[in-house]
Amino acid sequence: MKHLKLFILLLLTLPAAAQTIIKPDSGIKQMVDEVSSKNIEATIRKLVTFKSRHTLSDTTSKTTGSGAARNWIKAEMEKYAAASGGRMTVQFDTFTQPKGTRIDQPVKLKNVLAILKGTDPTDTRVYIVSGHYDSRINDVMDANGVEPGANDDASGTALSMELARVMAKRSFPATIIFAAVVGEEQGLYGSANLAKRAKAENWNVDAMLNNDIVGNTHGMETDLKDNRSVRVFSDGIPTNATDKQVAALKSLGGENDSPSRELARYAKETGERYVDQLDVKLIYRRDRYLRGGDHLPFLEQGFTAVRFTEMNEDFNRQHQNIRAENGVDYGDLPDFVDFNYVQKVTRMNLSVLANLALAPARPQNVGIITTDLTNKTKLTWEAPATGKKPAGYYVLMRETTSAFWERKFYVTDTTATLAYSKDNYFFAVQAVDAEGHESLPVFPKPVR
Ligand SMILES: [Zn+2]
Repeated sequence: MKHLKLFILLLLTLPAAAQTIIKPDSGIKQMVDEVSSKNIEATIRKLVTFKSRHTLSDTTSKTTGSGAARNWIKAEMEKYAAASGGRMTVQFDTFTQPKGTRIDQPVKLKNVLAILKGTDPTDTRVYIVSGHYDSRINDVMDANGVEPGANDDASGTALSMELARVMAKRSFPATIIFAAVVGEEQGLYGSANLAKRAKAENWNVDAMLNNDIVGNTHGMETDLKDNRSVRVFSDGIPTNATDKQVAALKSLGGENDSPSRELARYAKETGERYVDQLDVKLIYRRDRYLRGGDHLPFLEQGFTAVRFTEMNEDFNRQHQNIRAENGVDYGDLPDFVDFNYVQKVTRMNLSVLANLALAPARPQNVGIITTDLTNKTKLTWEAPATGKKPAGYYVLMRETTSAFWERKFYVTDTTATLAYSKDNYFFAVQAVDAEGHESLPVFPKPVR
């Protein structure tokens, strides 16, 4: 309590995006500026030249099919890695996918991973950003048609590659993995393999960012044009929550504070801090109707993960054979990708990844003391288990009906007592370093 410094950083009525910035990081701003729509466009157009990147397409040709595409992605990533002084390594993450509904025979598949090793040997955190490089058309089993997949998901793949290019030149205490995964359209297989591997090998994955369909700015039917909004999908009740954990959420009203929801709020605050003319819109669901994406296998393994997708979709330009029918053009072609928009979404991802990877790890064992009936709130926690020690912590507070954190209290101790009732507000705690980089907030568990 004696260390409680009441840095109240904003008025209660302002949304998170309007929060006062203590120290914006000029290094992050510089990286954000380096993200290039020209590079992103060149990558998307190159990926389309492989004709089909379908998961079951040809792997022997040097110029077409999934094999040529993954070899090119790996070679590009290796060029970026050359600027990292040996810290970035590029690998195929290879696995055999057994026969399944959308896999007609066992097949060897390869994700491409560019791993930028963290510079702090005591910091075990890993961040993953991904897009899927496979594509499809109407018939999901048609492997060798013309399947450009420019928006779905060369856009997300180009985003991941552009981040690797810019960030390879910089140092972060935590490790960042830039992934281009396979098998999404056949059943999220590339991502599922990566998530299982992360679990089996005890990777300390602090956050996973899935970017899928992040390049179109025109809505089918509604004719809405929106190049300044991006959606972030997150689960409310954690996907892997046990019955006991769900019961605890029911009793305390914690259904809007899963780790992934905290990541979504963090993406909004950080992304809007560094990228102009971009609204990060939180969508309170895991994914869209009839669709699922590469963040889901990570959620199932208990990791924190979200999905970014454009605001209004053009379903005539997803999963479609290229054709004209009754005056309507179909096909996922590069001329319908808004490269400046992909640049903005890439910049947002960069600011989130960089701010997280530079920050201390999350505080541990964050608890809200429930021993007595009181109109105050006492929180306790422990310093992060891994990496550098924080300079201090933000205790975050909001009304129970509010979507975003509204007040921040800066403390240097690992306990805080606030003159606000725990019955009337939600709280969370995040670690912060001397430069102002914040960890993900942790929602407290009741402690007696
Ligand atoms: Zn997709």
